[in-house]
Amino acid sequence: MTARQVCRYVSTRGKSPPVDFSGSTQGGLAPDGGLYVPERFPEFDPRSFSGSESMPEMGTRVMAPFLEGDALAPHLASICREAFNFPIPLRPLRDTTSVLELFHGPTAAFKDVGARFLGYSYLLMPAASRARTVLVATSGDTGGAVAAAFSGKPGFRVFVLYPKGRISPRQEKQLTCWESNVSAFAVRGTFDDCQRMVKEAFLDADWRAGRTLLSANSINMGRVLPQAVYYARAAIAYFHQTGEAPGFIIPSGNIGNSLGALWAKRMGFPIREVVMACNSNRAVPEYLRTGTWSPFPTVSTLANAMDVGNPSNMERVLHLYPTVEALRADARAVPVSDDEIRAAIREGERRWGEVWCPHTATAARARDLVGGSHWILVATAHPAKFDTIVEPLIGHPIPVPDALSSMLSRPSRSTEIDATLAALTAAHS
Ligand SMILES: *Cc1c(COP(=O)(O)O)cnc(C)c1O
Repeated sequence: MTARQVCRYVSTRGKSPPVDFSGSTQGGLAPDGGLYVPERFPEFDPRSFSGSESMPEMGTRVMAPFLEGDALAPHLASICREAFNFPIPLRPLRDTTSVLELFHGPTAAFKDVGARFLGYSYLLMPAASRARTVLVATSGDTGGAVAAAFSGKPGFRVFVLYPKGRISPRQEKQLTCWESNVSAFAVRGTFDDCQRMVKEAFLDADWRAGRTLLSANSINMGRVLPQAVYYARAAIAYFHQTGEAPGFIIPSGNIGNSLGALWAKRMGFPIREVVMACNSNRAVPEYLRTGTWSPFPTVSTLANAMDVGNPSNMERVLHLYPTVEALRADARAVPVSDDEIRAAIREGERRWGEVWCPHTATAARARDLVGGSHWILVATAHPAKFDTIVEPLIGHPIPVPDALSSMLSRPSRSTEIDATLAALTAAHS
């Protein structure tokens, strides 16, 4: 480390110059096509925390070393205060199993945490002279969280790409109901197509000309890194209450959320292990089983925000764990079928006293498969967002949280396009 201890970010492919935190958040990919990762991780001593830190306190402490030397560093405490302004409760259920509820933000899914941190970071960055355009592909929930964070913010245009017909009606509402600076595109394709189109735009000279392109996907450092904060905080709280390091069971698709937990573990927070609960998109479970990484075509499932055949953040996981044996020592991955998701939702109230969303249901199912004790199930979305799936299974209506109900009453706007960058270019100009 240099005297100023500047925190640098390097590409997973090792062929791009290092950048600072702000640099790592603005582009989508590093110039060599890799993803940025912190060059090194700070070590935290769990005993130096009280166990009752608030999210803004924990965020300021955990993120500080990562913003060292960056223009945003003086603003870190205020970014955390604005971004982490909703509760993230950790509640005991039974059988030494607790639940960490990440869905109390404006769009009722965990993506609000990272999207709000990124949004306030962009707002506080020195104003660019050029128009700032945020491009985001979404499998369902990212787009809403990003749109909510930027809607009506002067100087920002937001383009949201989502796979037509593959998201819930309420998710679609959350992508399409914003101020005129947010445009939503229903892409005739899959989430992987949307993600590819965004990557292409970032590499396209015409798209880059005349504007500052900003990414907001879960590949963005400004979104992934804050996700380590709630794992650090929950692990510390659990450890203080029980003397045990918990394992986390995390509904996983593009692997950004699980990456946050693996990074928090690397920083010394008391996390025993990480279980990636997947749906029928099996790339990660297959990798852990066979040791050979290969993406699969995307399969549509009930847990649609996890319908990712080629999870981008695996590149960062493979960088953190260069061998499959190393990853197996810290993590497992469990595939969960749609039938098992339905069963977990049906049994949720009787077994756990909870109504699960289809994503969280994968974690509940995985809990039964992994056995053992001291688990924290990560609840990634409010079940009312997926009422059309959940209500028929549990046989009664789910009360709708306030943020969701006010959104449902607004008008929607979206444009349907083919899954090519040319179609997006034609439609937006
Ligand atoms: C995005 C999302 C996931 C998957 O998170 P990744 O970071 O992509 O692994 C799980 N559940 C819900 C509700 C989501 O919106």
